[in-house]
Formats: sequence, C-alpha cells, structure tokens
Amino acid sequence: MKDKFDRTIDYLRISLTDRCNLRCIFCMPDEGVPLLPHEEILRIEEICAIVREMALMGLKKVRLTGGEPLLRKGILDLVQCLRDIPQLEEVTITTNGTMLKDLAEPLKLAGIRRINIGLPSLDPINYKLITRRGDINKALEGLQKAMEVGFHPIKINTVLLKGWNEDPIPFLKLITEFPVEVRFIEYMPLGRLLGKDSFLSAHEFLEKISSLTEFKETSSTPGNGPAQKSFQLPNAKGSFSLIAAFSDHFCPKCNRLRLTSDGEILPCLFSHQGVNLKSALRPYLDSSALRLKILEALSLKPKEKDLSFSTQRFMAQIGG
Ligand code: SAM
Ligand code: SF4
Repeated sequence: MKDKFDRTIDYLRISLTDRCNLRCIFCMPDEGVPLLPHEEILRIEEICAIVREMALMGLKKVRLTGGEPLLRKGILDLVQCLRDIPQLEEVTITTNGTMLKDLAEPLKLAGIRRINIGLPSLDPINYKLITRRGDINKALEGLQKAMEVGFHPIKINTVLLKGWNEDPIPFLKLITEFPVEVRFIEYMPLGRLLGKDSFLSAHEFLEKISSLTEFKETSSTPGNGPAQKSFQLPNAKGSFSLIAAFSDHFCPKCNRLRLTSDGEILPCLFSHQGVNLKSALRPYLDSSALRLKILEALSLKPKEKDLSFSTQRFMAQIGG
C-alpha cells in the first residue's frame, strides 16, 4: 500500500483491548479509561478479516498491543488465524509481561514471532509507583519464561521519565547479563498525562550513558522503527536503543496504520480523525466496502504528526 506521500504502508498495530491490569502514569489515568460496550469491540474473526483484506493490499507485519493484549479472550485463536494468512510475514506482540509466565509458550506455539515487554523500571518500588499497582516479579518471571521458550530478540520498552527511571545503570546491568534489547522511548504527550518537567529526551539519556560506559552504534535489529538507533556495549549479551519518537522527524519514513479495539483505523498516532470499519463487517462482511474504507483511512495519513490538536485519547486506547 502506498499513501499519497509515496510512503509504503505495510505495518498494522492492533489494539485488542483498552483494558489493562496496570495503570502506568505515562499511559493511563489512575481510574483507567471509560470501558467500551462489549458489542462495540471487534470480534476475533472480524480482526482477522480486516488483516486478511489488508494483507491482499500489501500489509506484511502486524503487532498486537493494547491496553494489555494478553487480557483479551481468544488471543491464541487470533494469532493462529493471522499466522495462516499467506502474505503476512510476521505477527508480533507488545505486552507488559505480567501474564507471560503462563502464556509465553502457547503464544510461541500459536505463531507469535517476537515479543516486546513494557518495563518502565527495574526497581521494585519505582515499578509499583510508575505502574500504580504492578509487581515487578511477575513481569520479570514473564521475561524469564519468554527467554526460556526461545523468543529472540526480546525487546524491553522503557518510557523515559525524568525523576523516575533516569539512572541507566540497572538497565545496563540487565543487558550485560541477558540477550535482550532495551529500548528507551521518549514520552509522547497523548492525553497530556504528564507535564513537560517529566520529559527526558533520548539525546539527554544517551549523554548519561556516555558518561558511564563506552558503546558503539550498530545496525538495526529486526522490527526496528524509523525513529530508532541501536547501540552495543563491550562484552554485553544484549544491546540498547533509543527511540526519539517525540524529538525526531521520522514521519517521512512512517510505514504504519493503527486499528483500535472498536474498529477504527487511525492514520497516525496523533490523528484526531479515523475511519471506522464496522459498517463493512456487520451484519456481514462486505470485502469491497472494507477495502474502500481502508483506502479512505490511507488517504487521510498526514505528511507529518500534528500536535496542535493533541488527541484526547490515551496510548492504551490507540494501541501504543
Ligand atoms: N500493555 C502493553 C505494554 O505495556 O507494553 C502494551 C500496550 S502499551 C500502550 C505499548 C507500549 O506503549 C508500552 O510498552 C510503552 O512503552 C508505550 N507507551 C505507553 N504510553 C506511552 C507514552 N505516553 N509515550 C511513549 N510510549 C508510551
Ligand atoms: Fe497498561 Fe501497557 Fe499502558 Fe502500562 S503501558 S497502562 S501496561 S497498556
């Protein structure tokens, strides 16, 4: 699929649910997000039908996310359904890891190729404060299980927060011992949950790391996005990368669309306008209408992010 700025769009991020068992301060308000009525949420077979149509149009990669995607009933059926779409090259998932102890193996067997785990701090107290309720041991057990069942490379998503996780040392120790890639991600002000004083830029964080150790820039690992630079420490099993999602001008290389759990295709993370696909799926699937709606969403893809509208949606509602 090409958009009107000649970018190839071959990647879809799917939010399977707005719900989450955590309430990370950068992602969701303490009270959670207003729950959508059950009938508004796309059914598993509807999601698969959308991906099947988009794969015929050139889609190559899908990432399941949320909210917490592992809370979604039927996720293994969905992965199996997606795995059987011949044009699709990979199905990946982003999870907070707290349920991976039980689900890493079934996900691997169902056909998930790669896992990213959201881990905003390695300090148990800070983790609990940032996630407002999480137990870091559950996330670490999930990470351990994912490594045991052979997921590789596992990426850790760490949203940079001034005053909360700005010490790189625990993360550098983690990548010295384990073959994981820690991705330090700039906070994006969706829903305006945090003020400017919490923002820690990727550039500033890299300077902190430079004052502690040597490293060298490496070529990108599979699945890395346009705003990402990767680095290797001497004698470390893992690596780290920085995602300057807010400061960098990566829009010219953007390759993605997003699908919300209630069936809206969002052309950009910061979109205030999307296209809902449900009328092409209910009461029965109308493939030509579905394709037209997907093309309409594609035509709305902006040249670059527009922060002036500042979407009122939170990351968990969009599918971060
Ligand atoms: N619950 C899963 C998790 O925590 O990874 C998947 C959904 S979460 C919305 C996906 C990723 O979005 C998280 O791993 C986190 O890194 C990122 N994220 C959430 N809110 C963000 C924000 N405001 N700015 C930048 N990244 C954010
Ligand atoms: Fe939940 Fe993930 Fe958002 Fe944290 S980042 S509140 S785990 S959806």
